[in-house]
Amino acid sequence: MKLTIPPHILSLKPYEPGKPLEEVEREYGIKDSIKLASNENPLGPSPLALKAIREATMSLNRYPDGSGHILLSKLSQKLNIAAENIVLGNGSDEIIALLALVLLQPGDQVIIPKPTFLLYDNIVRSVGATPVYVPLNELSIDLDAVLKNISPECRMIFLCNPNNPTGTVFSASDFERFLQAVPSDVVIVVDEAYIEFVRNPNCANSLEFISRNAALVTLRTFSKAYGLAGLRIGYGLMSQTLAELLNRVRLPFNLNSLALAGAAAALDDDAFLEKTIRLVHEGLDFMYESLNRRGIEYFPTQSNFFLIDVKKDAQEVFQRMLSEGVIVRSMKAYSFTNYIRVTVGLENENERFLKTLEKVL
Ligand SMILES: *Cc1c(COP(=O)(O)O)cnc(C)c1O
Repeated sequence: MKLTIPPHILSLKPYEPGKPLEEVEREYGIKDSIKLASNENPLGPSPLALKAIREATMSLNRYPDGSGHILLSKLSQKLNIAAENIVLGNGSDEIIALLALVLLQPGDQVIIPKPTFLLYDNIVRSVGATPVYVPLNELSIDLDAVLKNISPECRMIFLCNPNNPTGTVFSASDFERFLQAVPSDVVIVVDEAYIEFVRNPNCANSLEFISRNAALVTLRTFSKAYGLAGLRIGYGLMSQTLAELLNRVRLPFNLNSLALAGAAAALDDDAFLEKTIRLVHEGLDFMYESLNRRGIEYFPTQSNFFLIDVKKDAQEVFQRMLSEGVIVRSMKAYSFTNYIRVTVGLENENERFLKTLEKVL
């Protein structure tokens, strides 16, 4: 028997996530390493979420609530949007996959700024659609250039705001003008995985436009500011028409009961969220100042990670920092050959990162 594999599947490469700490330590024979590579919350999970998860373990013999009723009504209240406009996912990653599954066919075009979160490209190509890359302008998404690249075949546009890996944002006024110019049959996906960390008051909040735009999708996640990356839960906000379509292909129990319980409790943990945001902002200010003093070039961010220009091969800097037990991300895969991306950590982790970077450079 000979398998017939579609060519668009054969051309895919598996998405390469940041490696878990344990794996890196095993591979390199190091100990006490710190991971500042995947934009995770350094404080750990929300304590309220942990308590709720522990309690929920007692019911693991039961199937989860497939509708996610409790979490949906909490989100609905918090975000002031109807529960029918919310789709829960096994991470916001799953919402991206569902959108592609429901909306894209081979031959369709999808606009993806470049560089941005690498998963969009992978998912778009996995359903046979064609990515159209639009380069950033000085590390920012160029909304005018995106508009110019909309062809009659264009079905979807990905906008990551703040953009991973550059940390830049687009403004509410630019976004509003953009929305008016996009044809109504093109779905605009705004990924706001890091929106909680934004300090720029002009940053767009796409949620405000959902009720007026049937083709707009906002993605949010519990993986970053809420500290629950390992639990896998995120959501999309969209028109009820789109949400209903996604629910047709969503697997019946895509959210496990621990994730549902943990996320619902995390939403109530304002103290933890505030502590996280404060830690990130203070950490950023500290790192900026230290890098300024050392004369190392970096790019200010609206997120919990930022880029540093190491002025030499980023892969080499990454490897050498790794051997010192400090895990960052080389931006080579994002076509920034001389940049590394670092996530803000705890105070002592930030200090160790800075010391190690100075030593390696
Ligand atoms: C981390 C991240 C996410 C979150 O994905 P989850 O599946 O919710 O963990 C989404 N988008 C971007 C750009 C990210 O960096």
